[in-house]
Amino acid sequence: MQPQNRQPIVAGNWKMNGDPALIEQMSAALAQVELNNVKVVVCPPTVYLSMLNAKNFSKGAQNVSDKSGGAFTGETSTSMLKDVQVEYVIVGHSERREYYVEDNLLVAEKVATILDAGLTPIFCIGESEQIRDAGQLFEFLAEQLDAVLNRVGVKNFANLVVAYEPIWAIGTGKTATPEQAQEVHHFIRQHIASKDEKVAQELVILYGGSVNGANATSIFAQPDVDGGLVGGASLKPAEFIKICQAANELR
Ligand code: PEP
Repeated sequence: MQPQNRQPIVAGNWKMNGDPALIEQMSAALAQVELNNVKVVVCPPTVYLSMLNAKNFSKGAQNVSDKSGGAFTGETSTSMLKDVQVEYVIVGHSERREYYVEDNLLVAEKVATILDAGLTPIFCIGESEQIRDAGQLFEFLAEQLDAVLNRVGVKNFANLVVAYEPIWAIGTGKTATPEQAQEVHHFIRQHIASKDEKVAQELVILYGGSVNGANATSIFAQPDVDGGLVGGASLKPAEFIKICQAANELR
């Protein structure tokens, strides 16, 4: 059982999917459910953020620039995101790390920029199958965590959310078992606890990787899992609500 002070979060990462019709459907569907114990975050593509009617949920962005403004074609700043009431920003997602070559240093810089703006980073880490098979899982995750720890300091982990997303489970239908998720979440919490016990106990750690309405409850029931970052299933309002309800019932 999670301590009361860790509020579960379920964040939906639409990636480069969705359209105005889905924005309307999701806004309407979420407006009809009571989810008092879970913070729900919807992260559509940037151009749709202003169309979301986020009555009883929060808006999240999928990416942001590490720069504050100026000649950076195609980029979006934290202040622009704030103009459309964004509260959360996904950073360090494995797709951005892989396809847009965002390394640990840039991810750390972006986390710092997001925090400076008073927004909440959803800071993603996760290993490939090869790293896991080579027995380098914890070393690899520690490196990803340390890059951000070194840049913003452990106290700032009170102002962010960590998402553990094993790359082999993203969009593959191959979910980590609840035990595998718990093992890594416990490691993450211990890693932070070695620097600051209180921050670690209050740190919200989400699991991401093929979460759906059928497996959410068993994953979220793990003591160090505080909700989920959901990709594919966040595009289906009814399925996404089912996942939110699973997290809502944790308390
Ligand atoms: C994601 O990309 O953040 C994710 C978890 O995707 P999926 O749920 O589709 O595996």
